[in-house]
Formats: sequence, C-alpha cells, structure tokens
Amino acid sequence: MKFYCPRIIVLAVVLFGWTSYLSADDHAAPSMQPGPALAKLKSGNARFVASAASSSKPTRARRAETAQSQHPFALIVGCSDSRTPPEILFDQNIGDLFVVRSAGEVVDNYGLGSIEYAVEHLGARLIVVLGHERCGAVAAAVASDSAPGHVGNIVRTIRPAVEAVRNQPGDQLTNAIKSNVDRVTDKIRRKAELGSLATSVRVVEAYYDLDTGKVEWLNR
Ligand SMILES: [Zn+2]
Repeated sequence: MKFYCPRIIVLAVVLFGWTSYLSADDHAAPSMQPGPALAKLKSGNARFVASAASSSKPTRARRAETAQSQHPFALIVGCSDSRTPPEILFDQNIGDLFVVRSAGEVVDNYGLGSIEYAVEHLGARLIVVLGHERCGAVAAAVASDSAPGHVGNIVRTIRPAVEAVRNQPGDQLTNAIKSNVDRVTDKIRRKAELGSLATSVRVVEAYYDLDTGKVEWLNR
C-alpha cells in the first residue's frame, strides 16, 4: 500500500489540475446577446410604465421551469431602494434577471464576484448599472463626507462621484447620481475579471425616474 501512495498522489494532482483547467474555460453559453437583452429590458420597462402586464408575475409556471437551473438574460446592478426592484421595473419574471443590489449601487469585491459568476456560469452578457431619482445614499454623500457605522463606507465610496460634478450646472443630486452610475460602471469595466468573455459583455448605464416609472438609458 505504501508503494502506491506516491502514485495516487501524483494521479490526484494531475486530475485536479486537469479539472481546474477545464473549469476555467468551461463558460456557460450566452443566455442572450447584449442587443436583444437590452431590447427586452426596454420593452419590459415600457409595459411597466403602461402598468398593463406586471400583475401576472411572478408565475408558478416560471418558478417550476427555473427551479433546477437558471439562465438570466441580463445582470442588473442597482440600488437597494425599496422602490426600485429591477424585476418589476423591467416587467420580468423569476429567473430572468441576475440582480446585485446595495445602497447607492456601490460594488465591492463581493459584488464584483457576483458579476463574474453571473457572466461566467449563468451566461449573462448585458450588465445594466441602474441609478435612480432621489437616491438616499447619494443624497447622504452630497450632504456630508461621513456617516456613522458602515453607512460611512457607502458615503465615502460615493463621495468622489459627488465631487466630480460639484461645479456642474443643473440639479446637484441628479448630477451626482448619474456621476455615481458612471463611476460604478467604470469600476466594473476595469475590475471585473471576465477573461476572454470581457469582449462579449456590454455594460450600459441607466437612470430610473421614480415619478414616471421610466428608465432613461444614459448611453455614455
Ligand atoms: Zn438609491
């Protein structure tokens, strides 16, 4: 038995290495290309604004259909604000959207990991960074450069976006919210480690109007 141990170890190392190599390249097929995915979100938001379709969702049938696997067609990075649930704003169902939310849609390493996971393993190719009107997290960063507890981390993260547009004309909070969307988008583009998939992923910026229900596409 002693004689075979080293061989077993060598075999285990070779197999493990092989498996790791395979898993590194074994990406999920795209659920949907970015163009059609964006069109689907736009038509969903139009339905939401017209308030004709959302009452039928989520559905039991879709729950059963997605219970064993998921292929979300888009990834939304949005604010935790209770008025901005992406599935509702875009009139989508269970299993349609992979959503990463935090106050002020700030993205930390956990958020970046979640984004990488959804792209690599679930096939998402469109990433939407969604800011919204009267965002409380951004308003806190406009009002001060600090806050108690961990809210302070959020405020300090958003603060550079506020400073970047401090002297711009127009509404200071709206400018800061859009500037924050810019910075979050830039961070995702620079820091998400998507390897060979990076070129097939599209990151777009959006702004949700609480009053009208419309999502404005910022096209920056
Ligand atoms: Zn918010």
